[in-house]
Amino acid sequence: MSARILVVDDVIPNVKILEAKLSVEYYDVVTAYNGADALEIAFETPPDLILLDVMMPQMDGFEVCRRLKKDHRTAHIPVIMVTALSEATDRVQGLEAGADDFLTKPVDDVALFARVKSLLRLKMMMDEFRLREETSADLGVINTSEDNEEAVHRARILVIDDNEFSSRQMKEVYAEAYDIVMESDMEEAQVLLGGGDFDLAVVSLDSAQFDPLRLCSRIRTVESTRQLPILTLVDEADKDKLMKGLEIGVNDYVMRPIDTNELIVRTKTQILRKQYQDRLRHNYHRSMELAVTDGLTGLYNRRYMTNHLDTLLQRAKMDYKPVSVLIMDIDFFKNVNDTYGHDVGDDVIKDFAGRIGMSVRGVDLACRYGGEEFVVVMPDTDLSVASTVSERLRRQVADKPFTDKKETCEMVITCSIGVTVSKEQEDSNSLLKRADDALYAAKRDGRNRVVVTSANVAA
Ligand code: GH3
Ligand code: MG
Ligand code: MG
Repeated sequence: MSARILVVDDVIPNVKILEAKLSVEYYDVVTAYNGADALEIAFETPPDLILLDVMMPQMDGFEVCRRLKKDHRTAHIPVIMVTALSEATDRVQGLEAGADDFLTKPVDDVALFARVKSLLRLKMMMDEFRLREETSADLGVINTSEDNEEAVHRARILVIDDNEFSSRQMKEVYAEAYDIVMESDMEEAQVLLGGGDFDLAVVSLDSAQFDPLRLCSRIRTVESTRQLPILTLVDEADKDKLMKGLEIGVNDYVMRPIDTNELIVRTKTQILRKQYQDRLRHNYHRSMELAVTDGLTGLYNRRYMTNHLDTLLQRAKMDYKPVSVLIMDIDFFKNVNDTYGHDVGDDVIKDFAGRIGMSVRGVDLACRYGGEEFVVVMPDTDLSVASTVSERLRRQVADKPFTDKKETCEMVITCSIGVTVSKEQEDSNSLLKRADDALYAAKRDGRNRVVVTSANVAA
């Protein structure tokens, strides 16, 4: 994983040491010797990660970090503070300035690469999501501000610790700001995590009754918890375990004895990150959905249906199975609009789509083909079954009058249906054309009827 890293320190040898270590691992290194230069570089050509010294004359690292995190061009770039001090108060101050992590000088190689890799991995994923969101916003398929409120719910934390004293301490720290669940059994914890919408798992790495690393690795492998942040509590003596944990995908850690402020700030950061990630993912899925479905009826749209139909026909080429297609069109729909208005017309279309949805099987694909025209694609279905389905659909519509949403009027609606089946080596165009010709015949023959056309009729 190659990446561009900005190293900032006012002491030249410090910069050189980090530059050398990172270059050996093939990172692309850019350097700055004061805060102002660092900001300029970051704004002009944003790097993928910033290693930032705390103690610098003029502008210190905290201030640089605050400015980076306030600017939309750089807010998403992970910042690791590099400090000579290991005072907890400094760490907290840095985290409050928005820093993503800390390294203490002299920088330990294992810690350096573990932190760098984990933050870069996270950034790449977030960049990908941000890009997709921008695309969706550009296409107008999603309003990015629309879902913001969803992120603001009370976060849920599961603490997995088999030490009573430490559990009590965690409970005290978290109880006010979060919904917290305590668990001392690993199997139970997994069940809880799988079923619950937790925003963070806090795992004690010195648990005696279960293997905490195994738990972390399971959280990472199970689909439903893969994205769940893990914060670990680590004993000074357990550094090896921590390194392994970071490799497995633990997101962050707090050393014992626990500094309450540090725990609070790190917890907050992980939860914010999770909620931001959830929002991006939600928007992405929503935009996918909007891209393939029709807004008024919720049925698939025409583009999606033709793609799907082509895939089915392609597959049928190798191992021929009939695909049946019906096209239905509401009779004299213009009259509905003219008599009751366009809004009532929309209500009828919605109800009509609902009746189609109710009458087709799960494997069938119902789509809004155009204004008041619908297509149902029926895989692995021969013509006699397809005509039965068509006739059932026709009755579904004609037998029960429609009303508008406000139920101010009652309308008898009918529809005409053309249905046909695929022949070998056929594409969606020619199949849909034959169904459309059948529909035209149904209209011509008096409407409110089904016309069935076999595969042998020339389109
Ligand atoms: P036919 O029996 O020959 O199908 O007659 P028709 O009146 O249904 O056919 P025509 O194609 O002449 O008119 C369809 C009408 O459907 C015209 C159009 O304004 C209306 N329409 C298309 N889409 C919508 C929509 O989303 N909402 C509403 N309310 N009307 C729509
Ligand atoms: Mg019509
Ligand atoms: Mg029409």
